[in-house]
Amino acid sequence: MKKLLCILLICLLLTGCAGVKPAQRTVFAMDTVMELQVWGKEANKALDALEKLLKDMDGRWSATDTGSALYAYNNNGTVSWTADEAAFLQRANRLSRRTDGAFSPKLYALMDAWGFYDDSHSVPSQEQITKALADERMDLGGIVKGYAGDQAVQLLKQYKVDRAILNLGGNIQTYGEKPNGEAWQIGIQDPDGGAPLGTVKVHGTMAIVTSGDYQRYFEKDGVKYHHIMDPKTGVPAQSGLRSVTVISKDGTLADALSTSFFVMGLEKGSEFWRSSSDFEVVFVTDGGKIYATEGVKLSECTYEVIRREK
Ligand code: AMP
Ligand code: MG
Repeated sequence: MKKLLCILLICLLLTGCAGVKPAQRTVFAMDTVMELQVWGKEANKALDALEKLLKDMDGRWSATDTGSALYAYNNNGTVSWTADEAAFLQRANRLSRRTDGAFSPKLYALMDAWGFYDDSHSVPSQEQITKALADERMDLGGIVKGYAGDQAVQLLKQYKVDRAILNLGGNIQTYGEKPNGEAWQIGIQDPDGGAPLGTVKVHGTMAIVTSGDYQRYFEKDGVKYHHIMDPKTGVPAQSGLRSVTVISKDGTLADALSTSFFVMGLEKGSEFWRSSSDFEVVFVTDGGKIYATEGVKLSECTYEVIRREK
């Protein structure tokens, strides 16, 4: 009897743990390290499927991998896009129009001219910039991780997982509710490193996407050049911001907009938010000030609220 009780107790503990501990995996895809945590009975199967999804997407959308579909497309090869992929390409173009060109999916030649692809990192001449801006080849690095997050959500649904949190290299995707109505807590990174500047709390399935000048940059002659370009000038955007975080149910939108607002700056970004209803934003300025739109639940920091009514 004692033995039976003991076995029962161990079983209870184990099932209890299985409910609490996530299955975890680190994946390298899209030029970045991704950390995946999934809770649920089918968690390991879901992780296998997620890893495949992320690597397959890399194979389709890498701007530099000579075997990718996008590379073929950029080099006049024949590509048969799936209906979903064709819709994604159309969406990238629509978002470019919606942001008045602050988001541009056609910056391949410009990123190449600045040496971001092979880490040759050089400052191009005005002539090289003008030529690159006229080039139509695509780079979807500003939106594809958000799209990957949306695709991942569909997959997590398919595997009926309880909940998940995916760090897709700066793009955070939450999925499902935490127990006891607790919120998911996501840190806003300090652009200068160290402890997070504050914590964003979200519930359920949400994309929390950050664009920042600290994520990718090089220094030449004492000047820092980061990777988010102003498509109007062809040089790294100088809009007075260090980072922008967009929170939305729609990961593709959040990704395109975080990049766009980094280019637009605080004023234009806030106006854009006032005329929309499908996302919230946190801005971190050059001076280290934090601004958050009124729907954001931000804690552990001092910040100014951006309101709908000015
Ligand atoms: P993100 O980290 O999402 O802001 O994306 C930055 C990446 O998107 C860069 O590394 C480029 O590949 C690409 N990119 C740079 N500037 C822009 C822009 N203005 N619009 C769209 N994509 C951009
Ligand atoms: Mg982006």
